[in-house]
Amino acid sequence: MTKRDYYEILGVTKDATDAKIKKSYRELARKHHPDLNPDTKSDAEEKFKEVSEAYEVLMDKDKRARYDQFGHSGVFNQGAGGFQWSDFTHYQDVEDIFGDFGGSIFNMFFGGNRRSRRTGPKKGNDLRYDITISLKNAFDSIERTINMEKMVVCPECKGSRSKSGSSPSTCHTCNGSGQVQKVRATPFGQFATITTCDSCHGSGQIINDPCLKCRGKGSVRGKKKIKVKIPAGIEDGSHIRIPGEGNPSTTGGPSGDLYIVVHIKNDSNFYREGTELLYDQIISFPQATLGDTITVNTIDGKVQMKIPAGTRHGKVLRLKGKGMPDLRTGRRGDQHVRIFIDIPTSLSEEQKDLIRKLGDSFGKTPAEEKKGFFKNLGF
Ligand SMILES: [Zn+2]
Ligand SMILES: [Zn+2]
Repeated sequence: MTKRDYYEILGVTKDATDAKIKKSYRELARKHHPDLNPDTKSDAEEKFKEVSEAYEVLMDKDKRARYDQFGHSGVFNQGAGGFQWSDFTHYQDVEDIFGDFGGSIFNMFFGGNRRSRRTGPKKGNDLRYDITISLKNAFDSIERTINMEKMVVCPECKGSRSKSGSSPSTCHTCNGSGQVQKVRATPFGQFATITTCDSCHGSGQIINDPCLKCRGKGSVRGKKKIKVKIPAGIEDGSHIRIPGEGNPSTTGGPSGDLYIVVHIKNDSNFYREGTELLYDQIISFPQATLGDTITVNTIDGKVQMKIPAGTRHGKVLRLKGKGMPDLRTGRRGDQHVRIFIDIPTSLSEEQKDLIRKLGDSFGKTPAEEKKGFFKNLGF
């Protein structure tokens, strides 16, 4: 069987950004999730694995580079059957898409390989915080300190959940392990799964004398200053995960994660697409006709640009390496300068006269019309 191209599987172009790949994977994973396709389960399972394999490769800088250079054989050991679920490292993304649903799929595929993540005391809630930055900030990479209102570790019991002087006792249901074993029938066969103990919620302990300040939860409402470094080249809508800065667990588990969602304000000068920037530049008719060297704004200062003689309205000139940096490589894209030719509206009699003379010297019909004006505009 010939393997399909990873870019084709995800329906993205060779130069697709991580954000694009992620978006596409999100849609396809939803579409092919075996649990959502009960009638075509094994087919959906194959497809789900195929898109996940493609995602694994294209989201990994090294694997993607090897794939681009050597094809499928450059990535996974084809002799050993190629991609295996154990090669998949983006569980978090799948869990983000499906929640516990995503977790269940891995438990099925791995036969409980990911047990350590699925059991034990429940992790604290993940939090989301939105920040808005300018395009220039996204170019420069900035550090922001946010002052978040969130649950923080209880200052009274330091998160132990017990009143000072008292100590918790071992849970009798699970004998302190926090886990109980259950046998589950799944479409992929029977699995003995280890699940969290209901009595102690996985902590293995029973709080007899709860802390009064936090009522035995270990956390209280509070504020926390958190530093966020926003990498250069970040795209609008992408998120930065800060592990452990979500809410603390109320059952003795690890804290949740904080997701900083970054929004980028529309820039009045530059239009951005990935690493490319588009900029509109007005020049005069004589400059367009005779050529000139002009000063053009870029995201990091002004540069000189040559306008070739005979530049048409709408022509796009390129300033190489003057675009946005790539989030991973730091390599900058280009700035595309779209030329607008200014048509003067208030002219002196003398100027009008000069233009009439110029018009006469061109002849009655503009040269463009003879060649087909619309053709030149791309119609
Ligand atoms: Zn407390
Ligand atoms: Zn227990």
